Amino acid sequence: MNLSKILLMGPQGSGKGTQAEKLSAKLNIPSFAMGQLIRDEVATGSENGKKLEAIINQGILVSDEDAAHLLKLRLQKPDTQNGYILDGYPRNLLQLAAFDFDTPTHVIVIDIPREESLKRLGGRLTCSVCGKVGSVNNGIRIGDFCSCGGKWIQREDDKPEAINRRLEIYENDTAPVIAEYEKKGIVHHVDGIGNQDEVFDRIKKVLN
Ligand SMILES: [Zn+2]
Repeated sequence: MNLSKILLMGPQGSGKGTQAEKLSAKLNIPSFAMGQLIRDEVATGSENGKKLEAIINQGILVSDEDAAHLLKLRLQKPDTQNGYILDGYPRNLLQLAAFDFDTPTHVIVIDIPREESLKRLGGRLTCSVCGKVGSVNNGIRIGDFCSCGGKWIQREDDKPEAINRRLEIYENDTAPVIAEYEKKGIVHHVDGIGNQDEVFDRIKKVLN
């Protein structure tokens, strides 16, 4: 089997996380996102984990150097011998600079227009009591009651202004990272419109 070091990029709502899982199962290589690596390290209770926990508890972002260090250690684990999938990292030029110890074989960018992101994300509702997530696309409306008795609300984060702001950050920060990888000729754009399997077929085509 070929070595597949795949970086998966895409705006919120692109289905990137789902595709990363499907690809991980198909290629039998691990997939990880930086947030998860940090949470995993904290959960081990190691010295490094305690340090990270203290940073997070102060409401400070983990530095790009610390994040890159975690990734470096993760890539030394034996389950990455046939490759790995990096879900949404590096997402800006500073993170790219810190990620100087490895180069992906493929950078796959899942493209969806902003209106589509808004449509997919904008319908998200959250139960104010149990925290369950639902969608207006499943017939739930703001103010309806969840099975736990709580009310369905739209979180500030899920309002169109907030979604637009995050999409703008993604576009501004990630475009230069993609441009850097373009120079290496390893970037592949995949159309993110359609259902999960259709998008997954497009990704598999890129890898063949
Ligand atoms: Zn509930």
